[in-house]
Amino acid sequence: MMPTLTPRLQRFLDRNSHSMIIDGDSIAVSSDQTIAVVNPATEEVIAHVGLASAGDVDRAVSSARLAFDNGPWRTMAPMDRERILLRFADLVEEQADSLAQLITLENGKLVGQARSSDAIGASKTLRYYAGWATKIEGSTLDLSLKQKPGKQNFAFIRREPVGVVAAIVPWNFPVSIAAWKIAPALAAGCTVVLKPSEETPLSALMLGELALEAGMPAGVLNVLTGDGATTGAALVAHPGIDKVTFTGSTATGKQIGKSAMDHLTGISLELGGKSPVVVFDDADFEEAAKGIAAGIFRNQGQVCVAGSRVYIQKKHFDRVLQDVCDLGKKMRISHGFDPDADLGPLVSSQHLERVKSYIGKGVEEGAVLESGGKQVARTGYFLEPTVFSSEDNQKVIIQEEIFGPVLVGVPFDDIEDALQKANDTPFGLSSSVWTQNINTAHQMIDGLKAGWVFVNAPGRSDPNLPLGGYKQSGIGRELGRQGLYQFTTTKSVNIVY
Ligand code: NDP
Repeated sequence: MMPTLTPRLQRFLDRNSHSMIIDGDSIAVSSDQTIAVVNPATEEVIAHVGLASAGDVDRAVSSARLAFDNGPWRTMAPMDRERILLRFADLVEEQADSLAQLITLENGKLVGQARSSDAIGASKTLRYYAGWATKIEGSTLDLSLKQKPGKQNFAFIRREPVGVVAAIVPWNFPVSIAAWKIAPALAAGCTVVLKPSEETPLSALMLGELALEAGMPAGVLNVLTGDGATTGAALVAHPGIDKVTFTGSTATGKQIGKSAMDHLTGISLELGGKSPVVVFDDADFEEAAKGIAAGIFRNQGQVCVAGSRVYIQKKHFDRVLQDVCDLGKKMRISHGFDPDADLGPLVSSQHLERVKSYIGKGVEEGAVLESGGKQVARTGYFLEPTVFSSEDNQKVIIQEEIFGPVLVGVPFDDIEDALQKANDTPFGLSSSVWTQNINTAHQMIDGLKAGWVFVNAPGRSDPNLPLGGYKQSGIGRELGRQGLYQFTTTKSVNIVY
């Protein structure tokens, strides 16, 4: 079922071609290579975008470079930057329906979630960082350097924008994750080249158009369409880039890190996760089961902070896991425009096959399939919410990121056992603890090796709450003050007078 699309989105989709945004203009890619954008609920092609070559990347970076070095953005009064960012936030909010429908068409997610998490989420992030544009500050320092007789000194630290930023984002929250990068970068006075995933390029283009409508000067925000191997790789390796900010898989993050090091380009990496949820005997089990199901099945489990391993204290293991299975079985699986749907399709047939292969591995290695596990017999890339149980923490489905609606339950004895098991993967992005005991909560907060710890709730982002990984889940922090400072550099100055 196709919904009535907003007039703006209909006009957007009616275009013959979807060009990149470079230097404030729509520019076609230089080659005739295109990428088909597929609706994962219907398997139909909804649009084609061009595949940007290394030459196209060079044009985008040159435009951002000129806009940074000579353009008005960096030198504009901070309050004027703030005003444009606020206008951008307002436009994203006003166009939330168009953006949400577009995201559902290219990504498959439920349109209500696309609206709240992506479109409204992005407008909140833009608004939050708009406020920061006027609050960037340095500091003064007392030095012990000896001065010549009659001389004094004045030392201070200036905080400056880092320069031209390459922002590479994945398909799971295409607009909100883009906003996590472009909002702080722009607030700091940087210029940006945004490279969305080839699965979800259209919403990034609409975002770029809204930035121009908001009065963003030409070249300040450029949007490239293309794939990772050609376009993304050329962008990261471009010598005109001062900072790479990347969200995606750990494997790609490592590749990008190596490439960025060739020019000693600064990097921030937000990578994969395998986040533990720990349920103690004294938890509110009903709330915990709902939180666990929401944490792993929302957005079809395609969430970096998804709680994909649940550790339940032995006595109540069967009961809590059964509750989660029951919640999963009740979920209505349908396309993202169905108002009754709880779960939409996965993003692509390739990703569906990857998640199914993990389910196969789980069965092969002897984990118990408690519920779900099957592809839904209908057009589109739909998969049942799936729950496994296992006593062995070393199974592949417990150690590797699946990025789908697949949960594994493991029993534990006590706090020490819970911490040992929860920390025993290469990842460290998020975690949740369910307990009524404040001492247990603090011991867990202390011991968990993860960038986020949520107590009695699944992980949820907020513009003021920094997000980032321990271990192989990343380098750096996004959101909050720390998310702004990753786009600044400091200059130490000493004036003798
Ligand atoms: P990928 O790592 O495959 O891709 C992420 C982005 O990088 C895409 O835009 C992709 O382009 C691009 N890319 C791929 N290869 C290269 C390359 N060699 N050089 C430059 N860019 C490249 O991740 P997915 O898109 O599959 O996203 C899912 C992953 O993202 C999961 O592992 C998830 O955990 C992680 N993630 C992490 C978050 C966090 O905050 N820590 C948040 C959300 C997701 P293209 O798609 O066109 O190939």
